[in-house]
Amino acid sequence: MRTDQLFKQKTVLSFEVFPPKKTSPLETISSTLRELSYFKPDFISVTYGAGGSLNGQTTIDIAHSVKHTYGIESVAHLPGINFGKSEIKKILHDLQCAGIDNVLALRGDINPNFTPKNDFNYASELVSFIKENGDFNVIGACYPEGHLEAHTLKADLINLKEKVNAGTDQLISQLFFDNDYFYTFLDKARDMGIDVPIEAGIMPVTNKNQIERMVSMCGVNLPKKFKQMMAKYEHHPDAFRDAGIAYAIDQVVDLVSQNVDGIHLYTMNNSYIARRVNEAVATLLKVPKV
Ligand code: FAD
Repeated sequence: MRTDQLFKQKTVLSFEVFPPKKTSPLETISSTLRELSYFKPDFISVTYGAGGSLNGQTTIDIAHSVKHTYGIESVAHLPGINFGKSEIKKILHDLQCAGIDNVLALRGDINPNFTPKNDFNYASELVSFIKENGDFNVIGACYPEGHLEAHTLKADLINLKEKVNAGTDQLISQLFFDNDYFYTFLDKARDMGIDVPIEAGIMPVTNKNQIERMVSMCGVNLPKKFKQMMAKYEHHPDAFRDAGIAYAIDQVVDLVSQNVDGIHLYTMNNSYIARRVNEAVATLLKVPKV
């Protein structure tokens, strides 16, 4: 099923997982998927070599399992930067054989250990290629505070519009900790005629290293109240985790009340986090949008 159709009916809740490290058995993800499936998310997306390491078959296997073992619609991420056209064609064929209808088409992060193939320098090129070579619902990434490489949010939005014009059916945002950035971005995107569903990406932060990594990787702003909370609990792991989850729930309550299209939860393969957020907002998500 195409996940873009879900937005017509409700406020969508989706989860993101990543494949286990090459040294870990694939079974480590099975228990996570089993637990996540109890919460009946609208779909689960599976990352693909985030950071540049290429583990594509694992992504396809997990996306297949999400759909066919756990009965949840799945999305396979696909970063194009390190692939040539024939390799992408092969992956699309494999996705089709695995019954996966939804692809998150990405440029991918530039990794010094891999030489870009230059067939897909921007995600928009990959979106067009996927549309020409298969019948997929194509999702794209978007950045409420602007992509790290973009000089201005406006420039990034112009490129985003091009990505949507290339055939992107739906967008998922990078994580953010200040909802006002998302609302401003949403207003600007709608004003520019970007009219596909846009999900808000939310990551409950459960430890300090994680947030430091995220800030350097994504360049997101941390609001004062978030920093104060983290400083207060940094030496108390359980309190830090609960504060991070409570902060994320607060963000989700506000976003859902403002009628966003959907919430994409970066679960970090932690079903406990997903359970806590789901318990807090499940009834809110059932209230029809106005
Ligand atoms: P693009 O849309 O191509 O944008 C990249 C930059 O190029 C932006 O600054 C944009 O403004 C600029 N740009 C775009 N088009 C043009 C143009 N025509 N001319 C000039 N400049 C242009 N990475 C992974 O490796 N694996 C994953 O599984 C993964 N999952 C992700 C999931 C989500 C929801 C998000 C938000 C990101 C994910 N990423 C993943 C990270 C992503 O690959 C990086 O953020 C990457 O740096 C940009 O990818 P993109 O698809 O947004 O690129």
